[in-house]
Amino acid sequence: MAEDTIVAVSTPPGRGGIGVIRLSGNRALEIASVLIRLPQLPLKARHATLGEFVDAASKQVLDRVMVTFFRAPHSYTAEDVVEISCHGAPVVLHCLVECCIAKGARLAEPGEFTQRAFLNGRIDLTQAEAIRDLIDSRTLFQARMAAQQMEGAVSARLRPVKQTLIDLIARMEAGIDFAEDEVPVAANDGIAAQIAGIRDALEKMEQGYEFGRFVREGISLAIVGRPNVGKSSLFNCLLNEERAIVTDSPGTTRDLVSETASIGGIPVRLVDTAGIRETVDQVERIGVEKSLQAIADSDLRLLVLDAAEGWLVEDEKLFRKIRPLGRLVVASNKSDLPSRLDERQLKSKIAEADALPVGAHDRLTDSGSPRPGAFAPAEEPRNGLLLPAGLAVVKTSARTRAGIHTLQQALLSLLTPNQSSEVESEVITNLRHQQSIKEAIRFLEKAGQAAACAVPHEMLLLDLYDSLHSLDAVTGATTTEDLLGVIFSTFCVGK
Ligand code: GDP
Repeated sequence: MAEDTIVAVSTPPGRGGIGVIRLSGNRALEIASVLIRLPQLPLKARHATLGEFVDAASKQVLDRVMVTFFRAPHSYTAEDVVEISCHGAPVVLHCLVECCIAKGARLAEPGEFTQRAFLNGRIDLTQAEAIRDLIDSRTLFQARMAAQQMEGAVSARLRPVKQTLIDLIARMEAGIDFAEDEVPVAANDGIAAQIAGIRDALEKMEQGYEFGRFVREGISLAIVGRPNVGKSSLFNCLLNEERAIVTDSPGTTRDLVSETASIGGIPVRLVDTAGIRETVDQVERIGVEKSLQAIADSDLRLLVLDAAEGWLVEDEKLFRKIRPLGRLVVASNKSDLPSRLDERQLKSKIAEADALPVGAHDRLTDSGSPRPGAFAPAEEPRNGLLLPAGLAVVKTSARTRAGIHTLQQALLSLLTPNQSSEVESEVITNLRHQQSIKEAIRFLEKAGQAAACAVPHEMLLLDLYDSLHSLDAVTGATTTEDLLGVIFSTFCVGK
């Protein structure tokens, strides 16, 4: 436990209905009792008590406040905590903080209350990080994810995997240390299988990270299509606001407009690109160049067609340019108008274009990553037609808003790890966690190879310990006592 008592204003800066000051440490109660005139002492834990903050100089009441005392260890920091709710006048709050400091408290560093909760063992690292994420969340979905992690969802998912690793280490250690006590030495193929099992579980967690990153940081969506097909209009539908300039004359949306919408709780930065077409106009060509870069850089692409005009050669050219870059939704817009193509025909044209090998001249940029699962077997039929993974086709009308919800669902389903619109709740959203898990997987791979080559267990254990330490970095350390506990409890060696 920390020796000193810390104090800070816990509510955001500025004026408010109330402002809360938090004190944490051995002297929290003593300091509050000196500064606040209270009807009875000692304060009852977890009860709000009305008190008066009296100005030491003038002896006048500065504010009527509510004081709540949380006795250690049943508090946020696991130390004695006093929360004083004042009326939210910044001058009064600062005066009270200064008075606390004059009575022996120290101004808290940023995040220090949560740090103390961690150091005192009340929460683990993932929970501490989730508290920060919850405070920073911009959509309700982000908040829900953070709240689950705050309850320990990441640790809960990691715990059984880590336990299997600890058990394996313990069994191998016992085999080495207590060989003369007839503890059987584990067989190499059994060890390799167990290592593979642990690695699989970690890989599953790690694969969910990309979606987790989408939730945490949001995604960028490039809207692509010939001029006048309705990109700006669809963009506005998704944004639910009229922001981009909508115009009847082709090629006039030259600037990239960037706004953030929330689709299924994921912040989506919409990048409305200038109409890409072959042009001699200097200004328009700059717009086209910028568009191409934005398309290559985005997480997801939306190709808009004009259903009234059908699938034109230019649409197919665009499709074949952007399809190698990854996830793509094709919106057949203006579905309120009489269409030249029905949905089935369109899907078969798209599937046909997708199956054509991509020529070098079709590639958008050199940096464009190869299409994931290119020429992979088509997945289950959607609306009676086979479409490859990472591709979806929807009918929309920006005018009547028909199909906008389906479009949102299609975009969302391409982002989720198994391409369902079901959203996994216990995904890894934190880069630090992902990096540690990846490192743990790397060490397990090494260990797996070593086991296959019948390397002495002492050597193999080094990799397993490294892997365990990488996992420790996510949730907190495994102590020697933890390991010894498993060794002695499962093997009854301590005879
Ligand atoms: P962009 O150049 O691709 O961004 O196209 P705009 O969004 O500027 O739209 C071009 C024209 O098509 C405008 O007159 C829109 O009102 C019209 N438009 C856009 N979407 C639809 C739609 O779904 N149905 C109909 N009938 N017209 C649309």
